Amino acid sequence: MRLLFLQDFLDLIFPRNCPQCGRALFDFEPCLCTVCQGTLPVANFHLRPFDNELTSKIRGLMPVHRAMAFLRFTKKGKSQKLLHQLKYRHMPEIGVEMGRLFGQSLDKEGFRSEWDVIVPVPLHPLKQKRRGFNQSEEFAKGLAKSLDISMNSLLDRRKFTETQTKKSRLQRLENVEEVFELKKGEAIQGLRILLVDDVITTGATLCACANVLLDCGAKHVDLATIAAGGQ
Ligand SMILES: [Zn+2]
Repeated sequence: MRLLFLQDFLDLIFPRNCPQCGRALFDFEPCLCTVCQGTLPVANFHLRPFDNELTSKIRGLMPVHRAMAFLRFTKKGKSQKLLHQLKYRHMPEIGVEMGRLFGQSLDKEGFRSEWDVIVPVPLHPLKQKRRGFNQSEEFAKGLAKSLDISMNSLLDRRKFTETQTKKSRLQRLENVEEVFELKKGEAIQGLRILLVDDVITTGATLCACANVLLDCGAKHVDLATIAAGGQ
């Protein structure tokens, strides 16, 4: 009761608004208003996780297992607005909420026991310092909570420098200017991993990360993003 009172008081001073439509939120609405939550452009790729637009897109870039996205990305559409607010308006709670909602959908289809760990695609450390958070990590947190699976930021990301003589075949093909590595001291032998990012466009970044995890011994790597976009 006292907590509820405190929330009312805080809402009075700092009113919370729906990041989609701008309407003031009720206490029971954690992030989006009920109307916006009910009309999200869900992609439903997880209903055919082994054979959908995303798996076709990444075939040839990595050994494909499952690939899923919560929302369909349309230019000037709802998912674009949410992603923009998440990344550039400093609203990490949108990432957590998208993860929580998508996690619920995945749980409903029986995915809870399919993964050992959820791994977010890392941001470059300088970028993360500037933004204050990694949007993929926020999404991963929400998924982890709904699915009751641990989240672990297992990968490092840095710019490719010429002193590094080895680039993987994929990195050369895709001209990836950044490299990903498993953090020192981490072991992922035999783990079933759900790798997550905010959006998938060409798939180059996600597949580069997935290949690193597979090279380090992961059993298989599934992909999930907040939204899937066109080219
Ligand atoms: Zn709304």
